[in-house]
Amino acid sequence: MNEVKKFFADAFRHLGNNRPVPEIEVRFYPYAGLHHTIRVMRSSDLARRRRGRKLISSAQGEAYNLDKMFTKLNKRYFDARLAKATLTWSQRRTRNILGHHDRVYDTITVSKTLDSLEVPEWFVEFILYHEMLHIKHPARLINGRRYYHTSAFRQDERRFPYYSDAQKWLERVARQRRVPRARAA
Ligand SMILES: [Zn+2]
Repeated sequence: MNEVKKFFADAFRHLGNNRPVPEIEVRFYPYAGLHHTIRVMRSSDLARRRRGRKLISSAQGEAYNLDKMFTKLNKRYFDARLAKATLTWSQRRTRNILGHHDRVYDTITVSKTLDSLEVPEWFVEFILYHEMLHIKHPARLINGRRYYHTSAFRQDERRFPYYSDAQKWLERVARQRRVPRARAA
């Protein structure tokens, strides 16, 4: 982790026109065995955390309401059997991760970048549907590795009527944001 901090500091000094290197916190998130994410928190986020303000905002966005969407998807695809999770729009504008389910806090976070009428409702629903599948399919531990997207998970995911359109939209998002890949985590 300290190497990451050092790398960040070096890069910042190189690019930052002699501005002081901001304080950062580095955390390592192991994901699904294959994907590992390193997140760098900015000092503004650290300050917010110190003040004790939660990062949870609200399910009601400007364009879409995640609570209503959850209820609708729950009825349509899960026989209304999923326990309600806490739903929230992300505060930070993540570039390539559009949704995330946190089992510990039973929270689903959807990227704020999708809270816009320019984003079709079925695409936001697809991201939320993916996260809801994480409630239905808990991660499986196989030989000490945690698998989140099991074959049963992927099978269910493909049942979503707009599945292939959603894949195309994900590619489009990645192109627009100049990232290799956009996805629901
Ligand atoms: Zn996932």
